[in-house]
Amino acid sequence: MPSPLVEKEVNRLYQLLNEAQISFLQDYIKQSKKSKWLERLARKKGIVLDKDQSAEDAWDKLNDWELKEILDGGYGNRPYKCECGMALRFCYIVRHRKENRTFRLGETCLGNYTLLSPDLIRDIINGFHKIDLERDEILNKFELGWTPPLDYASLSLPEDIQRQIDIGLPLSYLQTNRVENLFKPDLIRLRKQREQDNLAQLHARKAALTARKTSQPAPSAPSAELVTYEWMISRHGEHLTQIKDNEHRLKNMVMLAKWEQLQQMIQDLQRHDPFDYSTFLSDMFELLYELDLY
Ligand SMILES: [Zn+2]
Repeated sequence: MPSPLVEKEVNRLYQLLNEAQISFLQDYIKQSKKSKWLERLARKKGIVLDKDQSAEDAWDKLNDWELKEILDGGYGNRPYKCECGMALRFCYIVRHRKENRTFRLGETCLGNYTLLSPDLIRDIINGFHKIDLERDEILNKFELGWTPPLDYASLSLPEDIQRQIDIGLPLSYLQTNRVENLFKPDLIRLRKQREQDNLAQLHARKAALTARKTSQPAPSAPSAELVTYEWMISRHGEHLTQIKDNEHRLKNMVMLAKWEQLQQMIQDLQRHDPFDYSTFLSDMFELLYELDLY
């Protein structure tokens, strides 16, 4: 697992955000960590939590050490103190429901004072690191510039996701995944529609191009048997490289299949197997459209 960014880098990226974005992101991270703690502890105790149950009810049921708060003293500061005396930037406030005892602890002392098992603590801390990675992802995407997928505008997204988009914070991969799963049928329909629109546009362009070519025959227009691998690469190599460089952005199954097929066709051409230049062209341009490269 990659390590979270160093504090200095996180601090630099946070400074690119406005106040609303900072507080939203910090709150999201804090809530994620609290629910991670709850989820891991419940799993460890073999307690199944009802999805619709409030956190309060869940904690009544668990009756164990609860993560109440995470305090952050800010970059370069250590204003808090662990029970052991160590100065802390991040202070975890944990409270035992039944015994009504509260501790203020640093990460390394979480296990010592709560006597929660070391493997559970390790599990929780790993979970925290994953959440920090999600934060880093959001910050990195913000710096690079991010816009939500086009189709999201017509969906009624969950309130938290919508708010995150509205204040201009990128969605993490996990959050995008959540949306994709929630709206699978809608998104398939929307994307199919868009693909058809693109294709229609493409046909219109090709028709216009053909009309121009017939009116003034261009010597460079190849007949099928003249299309060789070398000729095709000299003409479209640059486009193909662009698609290749951006293939990780292809998320839609239809487009991924097209890319597969396109690469297969190039291999066929290289082997002098039958090659359909017009299918090749339409697939290639569709991919370029999809990737906003054309
Ligand atoms: Zn300590």
